[in-house]
Amino acid sequence: VSSIIRTVTGDISPQEAGITLTHEHIRYAYPGCDYDPKNVWNFSDVASEVTKTLAEGKEAYDYRTIVDLTPAEIGRHPELMAESSRRSGVYIVATAGFFPEVLGIPTHWRRQDIGYLKELLVSDLTVGMVYDYQLTPYKAGILKAATGGAGVNGDTTPVGVNGRRIGQFEDQAIRAIARVQAEIGCAINTHTQPIDYSVTNPGIELLDLLTEEGADPGKVIIGHALINPHSDQLREICERGANIQIDHIGIPWQHESAEELDELLANHIVELAEAGYLDQLVFAFDRFFHHSRGPVTPEEPDQLNELVKLDYLFEEFVPRLAKKGFGEEDLKKVLVDNPARIMAFDAP
Ligand SMILES: [Zn+2]
Repeated sequence: VSSIIRTVTGDISPQEAGITLTHEHIRYAYPGCDYDPKNVWNFSDVASEVTKTLAEGKEAYDYRTIVDLTPAEIGRHPELMAESSRRSGVYIVATAGFFPEVLGIPTHWRRQDIGYLKELLVSDLTVGMVYDYQLTPYKAGILKAATGGAGVNGDTTPVGVNGRRIGQFEDQAIRAIARVQAEIGCAINTHTQPIDYSVTNPGIELLDLLTEEGADPGKVIIGHALINPHSDQLREICERGANIQIDHIGIPWQHESAEELDELLANHIVELAEAGYLDQLVFAFDRFFHHSRGPVTPEEPDQLNELVKLDYLFEEFVPRLAKKGFGEEDLKKVLVDNPARIMAFDAP
């Protein structure tokens, strides 16, 4: 066996992964979009549009690997990933797993037990992902675990099973995800609801559940942790050996402006690096390369996830970090070394 990163177009060595964004969406569409007349799309147009964005990012900034952290129920499209990857030369890592139950985990999957869920995830990772009842040759390379409410009106997520702010279907899915991680060794990236950091540490709740089922915290990335945290919550996650993703760079999620969130992110990054946790940080935008949700309106705040450009990281955010003393070597760790180490596993 050798250590690999599994992309939709085949396994690569961790050294080949290069600059990596750990949480993006090649295509994003809520369950039900597939029969909305406003969401009819053309495969070759979208593939060309996505290819262009990826190829420009590779050319200008040397982006090599994009993790498409889209679970199947919100528009994961294996053929679109493969086509855009082949044409742009950017590696794409696909996801096995689920969205939070308030937005995902369709009925069919709510009715299955942990063993059945586990079989699905193993099949996605080792055989190929299924799309529209057809088995594709494209395998997933990372798992996704997600918790928390929609955060509408600033509402926190209610307490669910085992005293955690994790719903019953999420609990089932996350147990399956943890068991698959323990068996296969691949990484788990996660979604937490930023609002919940005011009432608990959702990253720790997730880690508790995952490690209960045997997952390795060193292979876990806690996502959305820097949007609204207390510094001690971030350190608590790092002390458990897990990794933290800095995401929504340039996207003002739950903040007044990108400027405000960027500054908050940058201060936390520098603080975590000074505390000795540089090896546990990764970067992402959480941007949508294409979304199938019809016309973008002011009421659809997700437009902000589309508007940020791949340039933004290097043109806006890195200079902000540099002013705070974050150097080239630090940047290489976060963009290249850390994601490669976290995502690598022994090819089963
Ligand atoms: Zn996302």
